[in-house]
Amino acid sequence: MSRRNTQLLKAALATLHFTGTDNLVAPLVDNEGVVFMLHRVTPEPAAPFEPNRILKVTPDFIEAVIRHVVSAGFEILTLDEIPERLRDDRRRRPFACFTFDDGYRDNLVHALPVFKRLGVPFAVYVPTDYPDGRGDLWWLMLERVVAASTSITVDLDGARRHFDVSTTAAKCRAFDAIYWPLRAMPEERARETVRRLAESCGFDGAALCRELVMTWDEIRTLAAEPLVTIGAHTVRHMALSKLDEATARREMAESMARIEAELGRACRHFSYPYGCEQSAGPREFALAEDVGAATAVTTRKGLVRRGAASAVTALPRLSLNGDFQDIRYVKTMLTGVPFALWDAASRLKRHVPAGKNLQAHAD
Ligand SMILES: [Zn+2]
Repeated sequence: MSRRNTQLLKAALATLHFTGTDNLVAPLVDNEGVVFMLHRVTPEPAAPFEPNRILKVTPDFIEAVIRHVVSAGFEILTLDEIPERLRDDRRRRPFACFTFDDGYRDNLVHALPVFKRLGVPFAVYVPTDYPDGRGDLWWLMLERVVAASTSITVDLDGARRHFDVSTTAAKCRAFDAIYWPLRAMPEERARETVRRLAESCGFDGAALCRELVMTWDEIRTLAAEPLVTIGAHTVRHMALSKLDEATARREMAESMARIEAELGRACRHFSYPYGCEQSAGPREFALAEDVGAATAVTTRKGLVRRGAASAVTALPRLSLNGDFQDIRYVKTMLTGVPFALWDAASRLKRHVPAGKNLQAHAD
């Protein structure tokens, strides 16, 4: 998301909040609960050039969100409790559920202490290549290469492109000019493009993976905590919709089976990599049921609506985005109003996907 769009969205959310429009419209929006989506947790402030900062929040912000949802009357559920809650027609307090994607080490170091202190459950979805040290964190590698360079050359779909990346502004422009075409091309080719770029600049992708994500021993330490659920996030963290059905099924089933084998307990929950409409659709939602997932989460923006039991393998989430670490935005989002507005806007303007402005760089 561009800096300008971020500022516009922040202004719109603040306007909704301060005018009280969110409170006026809230009763019209009939929601059952919210599944929060997080990635990294670290107390360090973001660097001037750090486009993936949107995937990173501070422990203090998480604590503020937890305290807010508890004081606002939300009941905090584990993933295991969600299917039954959605089958139960009785009106109850809304629920909240906290989930982390990708298995970053900081989940163990910085998130766990907050959740333990507050006695709140959470889930972590692991792509099983990551703790094996084979994770391809290409979006972070691209950021590292651009951050450390003054100029770079990239082959984008057969066209050799040169970028000046000597200033923060130039780095931001270059990252966006490279990142979005990569997201649009077949994923193997996108990854190969970043791998070649990284190698040409002396970066080691395996080292980045070992630096940032948990080992199996660390995941077992986390899983031993009664508050923690470990879910699956495929083997290679590929956009499933872009794979043939047999490969997509294998990515899902193998990652769940591997987690069961490593942890010695059932793995019943799944998160679709990237998780947007282009990465997971009805075929994947059915596959998740087929391979035995009790729940599966997308990155589609929204709250969980009443009567959504049939969509238990297509749960939307609310991203706790590093660019929106202000409890006012979370309060406004929890009314459901921004999502209703975006849905209405997208119906009017079909070429703009709902919630596009909040799409994380990589989920
Ligand atoms: Zn992910």
